[in-house]
Amino acid sequence: MPLHVIDEAKRCLNCKKPMCMEGCPIKTPIPEMIQLFLNGHITDAGEKIFKNNTLSIVCSLICNHENQCEGHCVLGKKGSAIHISSIENYISENYFYKLKNGNVKKNGKKVGIIGAGPAGITIAVILAQRGYDITIFESKEKIGGVMRYGIPEFRLPKSILERYEKKLYEMGIKIRPNTSVGSSISIDDMFRDGYKAIFIGIGVWKPNTLHIKGETLGNAHYAINYLTNPDVYQLGESVNIIGAGNSAMDVARTALRHGVKKVTIFSRHDYFAASQREVDYAKIDGVEFLVHMQPIEIVDEGCIFVELECDGKGTLTPIAGTEKLYEADSTIIAISQGPKDNATLSTKGIQVQDNGLLVTNTFGETTRDGIFAAGDVVRGAKTVVEAVAYSKKVADAMDEYMKSLD
Ligand code: SF4
Repeated sequence: MPLHVIDEAKRCLNCKKPMCMEGCPIKTPIPEMIQLFLNGHITDAGEKIFKNNTLSIVCSLICNHENQCEGHCVLGKKGSAIHISSIENYISENYFYKLKNGNVKKNGKKVGIIGAGPAGITIAVILAQRGYDITIFESKEKIGGVMRYGIPEFRLPKSILERYEKKLYEMGIKIRPNTSVGSSISIDDMFRDGYKAIFIGIGVWKPNTLHIKGETLGNAHYAINYLTNPDVYQLGESVNIIGAGNSAMDVARTALRHGVKKVTIFSRHDYFAASQREVDYAKIDGVEFLVHMQPIEIVDEGCIFVELECDGKGTLTPIAGTEKLYEADSTIIAISQGPKDNATLSTKGIQVQDNGLLVTNTFGETTRDGIFAAGDVVRGAKTVVEAVAYSKKVADAMDEYMKSLD
């Protein structure tokens, strides 16, 4: 067992009012987890956090800990916060191999899950553990959604998702890869075939665009497309990235690992949407940052930007005469995603907002009886932990709904 994890755990004060939990979007029982771990009950600790968060291994690696649990730890005020993520990762890894579906009594009710991202996996696992007969329909060849196709290997190893996939099969969950609901088969077909409830968690995959000249050129790409499979891109030696969220950092660091020599991130603001840790890593990796820059046009030689002036109250104004070409072989636009036109969403009775996101109530019920939704397709691009936290509520609502049919 790595000594530093035990040492970190020993530093925990087991606070009566644990601020670390206050900062955690899914309220991981951190002090309890740590005390169980220290007292030799690592399996109980693992079971507790897995029950609370199906994707605890993933979250221990990719959450924005410095703003969440670790950022709220009381010890961080005067010294260094407990490295909660490392402890959680160690316990979660240890427990994952032991996780069994047990002798769950099957209730014979079929549930269809459309989309194997964070929301879909969470709901599949929770309902399988309650005896439901689960089938996941995934349009891509592998499970994971944004965790596989939007987060690079160096932040989240794909082997973790392979292990999750194996575990889903062990739990008796069926998976239909390469299957888009809404093309050959529809939600109505699923109801015909006996599904009692259907969950939609198809994520958001349509890149937001800048609406500037040059976005269709051969040297312009979108972040989510690039991250889906960086190996198939020939970016050249230099890349300009527009946007400064976590995706932009992922693109920058991935590009450097794929042979690009010079990467520059251009941001409108002098603060970044990405977590400070990701920004720090990007800087360490050699990424340059230019702030108060607004793109005007993408050209074959790079991208033309204009500098912005801040009035001190947050309003940014272009400075006339500062337009300049910043040369680069490729430009990647990383300004988040929205919902794609998807045949699943044109199912009769499902209401979609003007922005393409699904209409649901707070329990994830769509406007059609028996169809539920959660994750990014309901709330826009959010973090994995937020998707899991919300999906837990939706799983309970689906369970209640299906019991009410008896
Ligand atoms: Fe331990 Fe820090 Fe949480 Fe207190 S706030 S229980 S010291 S991790």
